Amino acid sequence: MKSDGESGDKALAGDDRDRGGERVFHGLAVSPGIAIGPAHVSDHFDIAVAEYQIEPEQIADESSRFAAALATSVKQLRKLKTKAQTLPDAAAEEMGYLLDAHLSMLSNSRLVRGVEKRIAEQRRNAEWAIQAEIAGIGESFAGMRDAYLAARFDDIRVVGMRLIRNLVKTPFEAYGNLPQGTIVLAEELTPADTALLDPRRIAGFATVLGGAESHTAIMARALGLPAVVGVAGLLTNRVTPENAIVDGSTGTVVINPRPETVARYRARQDQLGVEKRQLQKLRRLPAVTRDGVEIQLEANLELPRELDQAVNAGAAGLGLVRTEFLYMNRDDLPDEDEQFEAFRGLLRGMDGRVVTVRTLDIGGEKIASVLAGVTGSGGANPALGLRAIRLSLKERRLLDAQLAAMLRAAAYGKLRILLPMICNVGEVRRVREAMLQVARRLRRRGIVIADPLPPLGVMIEIPGAALAADALAAEADFFALGTNDLIQYTLAIDRGDEQVAYLYDPLHPAVLRLIQFAIEAAHRGRIPISICGEIAGDPRFTALLIGLGIRELSMAPGSIPRVKQRVRSIDTVAASRRARAIMDQWDPGRIATLLDDFNALA
Ligand code: PEP
Ligand code: MG
Repeated sequence: MKSDGESGDKALAGDDRDRGGERVFHGLAVSPGIAIGPAHVSDHFDIAVAEYQIEPEQIADESSRFAAALATSVKQLRKLKTKAQTLPDAAAEEMGYLLDAHLSMLSNSRLVRGVEKRIAEQRRNAEWAIQAEIAGIGESFAGMRDAYLAARFDDIRVVGMRLIRNLVKTPFEAYGNLPQGTIVLAEELTPADTALLDPRRIAGFATVLGGAESHTAIMARALGLPAVVGVAGLLTNRVTPENAIVDGSTGTVVINPRPETVARYRARQDQLGVEKRQLQKLRRLPAVTRDGVEIQLEANLELPRELDQAVNAGAAGLGLVRTEFLYMNRDDLPDEDEQFEAFRGLLRGMDGRVVTVRTLDIGGEKIASVLAGVTGSGGANPALGLRAIRLSLKERRLLDAQLAAMLRAAAYGKLRILLPMICNVGEVRRVREAMLQVARRLRRRGIVIADPLPPLGVMIEIPGAALAADALAAEADFFALGTNDLIQYTLAIDRGDEQVAYLYDPLHPAVLRLIQFAIEAAHRGRIPISICGEIAGDPRFTALLIGLGIRELSMAPGSIPRVKQRVRSIDTVAASRRARAIMDQWDPGRIATLLDDFNALA
């Protein structure tokens, strides 16, 4: 039951009420739980900037790097401006002026001209040139004792740091020195930034930008951190956040809460704790439906440190290990040995259960600065560009190192290899050929590898792959349905963009038909199929997916107990009947009603 305060908050969604210093905001609830603690505003001023000389023939390239950072910054500011328009009038106006001022500093300003000149004449790298130019502007402002001008200089510094951040592409900062229980508030956290948040220190986070199905959101759920993203107006200058509450279940963020608000949220936190302990009791019970059908509930892993969580949640295996996080927040590439150790560690930890390791899925919003040289700027449509398996097949040294590490680790347990973003059978054949070559090379060197070679599976996450699933089933040993991307590409919505998040609909009839088609193709081809997109961890969809024939679901470890509870209340015959009724519908509203009514029966 919601308290009056909460329903009142909801009515003012997007508002920033000011009650005795307390301010309430709303955004997208992406990771459940309540965090209460001291607030830390993630600022942009701590980036260490390298200084290096460039050769005359490198000047053009360095200027293009700067131009690309300018373009990204303009894009970000425009996005923030659109977001600010959802604020109440006065705040929207204030933010609009500020962001316009920032935008104007990025077009033919003294800052931009000065940086270009320093790159060309002093032959230094762009980030150093920005820092030097800001220092130069600072000196000319220094003599003027004028509060207005001081504020303008602050704006120039903020814009300059945005440019530097976009150039060096490193996370905001290390969060290791923050007091325990801190809540991080930021304009945006990339997946790499989020990977640095240690749940033992950080209690939760809220950001102005970000979509519900972004990898940042997935990472928050993986780490069990309460999180709200897409919060308009969160970081205006009008208030200095000292304490904050993040309610990742309702999407509410309270800045500088009053004591009675804290008391209310503490009570809710206690209640959630009780529910969690009750769910934990399910750990030892099997994931079996009422009519005795066993459902494999597995864990998705972003970081090796989540292994304990997966084991404690009683995961039947690891249905998706995202290896890209081995490549983030570092200056060198992980070599074959390091990856071998990481994968073998997972197999040992899972003690005989299946571990599904996916080859690198870098690209789109998942950027590793160490690979910036090979991924490039990502083009106009990074989600459609050189990413995932396309990158691995182009940069064979990346693929070969991963395959070698996997083949070696597979000698120690049940490892399966999974390929992201497959769009045609040729890609699967090329990877299989690469795997055979790597296997031959390792055997020649007398290195122990798995025998037989591990199963090679395909992510079905491109609509074309779903429609070609029969052909792919003939080449692949198993399928994993990646509904996060499947929904993104089918409905043409950026999963990381909060402005179109309202269109992100797993129950869209086109999405359901693609899922159904892929499941039936897997059954016809007699290969296993699982779902490892985020819908696998949402109990709302469990009955529908089981009704469509799914028997393997992989999700954030924290979601396993709730999904298991749902599995144990389902009758598969009734679920299949309801799934058929749902698949006869074209109207999304009717589909949702049919599903929710069925869920309410249990
Ligand atoms: C998916 O797309 O559903 C998926 C599981 O992969 P990722 O979220 O890493 O893109
Ligand atoms: Mg994907």
